[in-house]
Amino acid sequence: MHWSSWLWLFGLGLQTAFSRAAEPVDLLVRGGTLVTMDPQGRVLSDSAVAIAGDRIVAVGPTAEVEARYEPKRTLDAAGRIVMPGLINAHGHAPMTLFRGLSDDRALMDWLRNYIFPAEAKFVDEAFVRAGTRLALLEMALGGTTTHVDMYYFEDAVADETAQAGLRGILGQAMVDFPAPDNKTWEATYAATEAFVAKWHDHPLVTPAVAPHAPYTVSPDHLQAARKLADKYDVPIVIHLAETKHEEETIVGQYQATPVTHLDKLGLLSPRVIAVHVVWPTDAELLTLKKKGVGVVHCPQSNMKLASGIAPIPKMLDLEIPVALGTDGAASNNDLDIWEEVDTAAKLHKVALLDPTIVSARQAVAMATIEGARAIHMADRIGSLEVGKLADLIIVDMDEPHQLPLYDVYSHLAYVTKASDVRTTIVGGQVIVEDRQAKTLDRGAILAEARGYADRIRTLLAK
Ligand SMILES: [Zn+2]
Repeated sequence: MHWSSWLWLFGLGLQTAFSRAAEPVDLLVRGGTLVTMDPQGRVLSDSAVAIAGDRIVAVGPTAEVEARYEPKRTLDAAGRIVMPGLINAHGHAPMTLFRGLSDDRALMDWLRNYIFPAEAKFVDEAFVRAGTRLALLEMALGGTTTHVDMYYFEDAVADETAQAGLRGILGQAMVDFPAPDNKTWEATYAATEAFVAKWHDHPLVTPAVAPHAPYTVSPDHLQAARKLADKYDVPIVIHLAETKHEEETIVGQYQATPVTHLDKLGLLSPRVIAVHVVWPTDAELLTLKKKGVGVVHCPQSNMKLASGIAPIPKMLDLEIPVALGTDGAASNNDLDIWEEVDTAAKLHKVALLDPTIVSARQAVAMATIEGARAIHMADRIGSLEVGKLADLIIVDMDEPHQLPLYDVYSHLAYVTKASDVRTTIVGGQVIVEDRQAKTLDRGAILAEARGYADRIRTLLAK
């Protein structure tokens, strides 16, 4: 072969190598141990995630991914865990401003005598915005990338969530009594429809219809809410079978236990995110499974309000998807989903006197891929897989409470704390880096929360 041909081949080789290296991506997270939560359950050491736009485009050994992609930015995760962002599948973000306002009471006493009156007095759009910002800051710093919410003025929650760059399924609350935002059912319905229509195609916000509970929304209104959700093809978020008291009330009024009551109304479907589900019958569990309902387990809220212990092991056996939620900060009192993972893994062991129930891995899955299934988003989030949205976190593993490390799931379930989260990425955007919030103004948010606390304290003292 003529030397010029060799030169040409050499050039071609260079060109290929160059074009491979030049495949541009926006962000590369390199060198970490990837806890992928993918269908194979892979844990990959010294690996990398490449991100283009809001999507994951590659997951693999660091050397291979680095050889193939030219990132605009690189984040080093050596010695750390990289995993899917956590899903907090139930909360009332603005209620952070009621954190610790009234503790240690039964749900109905707490709601009727403290929370509903406090909400009637204080909750307006500015309150909702301030409380939501505080909640988003707490959640983002702790590694939550998606939150499912239900509150009043949900349009403001959605606006704050989108501005902060977090993801959310955000439900406009619907109740039969006059609420802080809407005084009649007609106004509530119209506001909910306008809210859903407005946010319908947003990349971060999925609007939802959120009838509060079977005991606060009449059968007619529940059916109207379902029709609205059907019309716009959006989720329904509802508290369900939370307490024995609720069960007695619904049986007394409608001669059916809460899950059956909703089923009779035609409310149960794969668009439903049912929160708590502490008191279903065994037959009702089969109904939930058959109807494709996702369940949100809020173990700490259920413990604090003494609501009971949800039959999560039975749900897992039936392969009903279960997510974890903190519930609002007034009933928990923080938005730390790591604590829910820890509690979910322990509560059922002691309740059933069986230490093999709800493994560390299962509990971590509830905050990631199984949680994504329960909120009907598993095709987009919940695992580190090519094609999924780039929602991921980098977790430090070098603190005294984390050494030594033998089993990643054990560490993630039983020792990791919100404060161990170093970096939070949502849809490819870095919203927390090295424990610093990038999209939320920490100083202003904390000052505003203190201001509200002073006003609430003064007004309640009168
Ligand atoms: Zn709740």
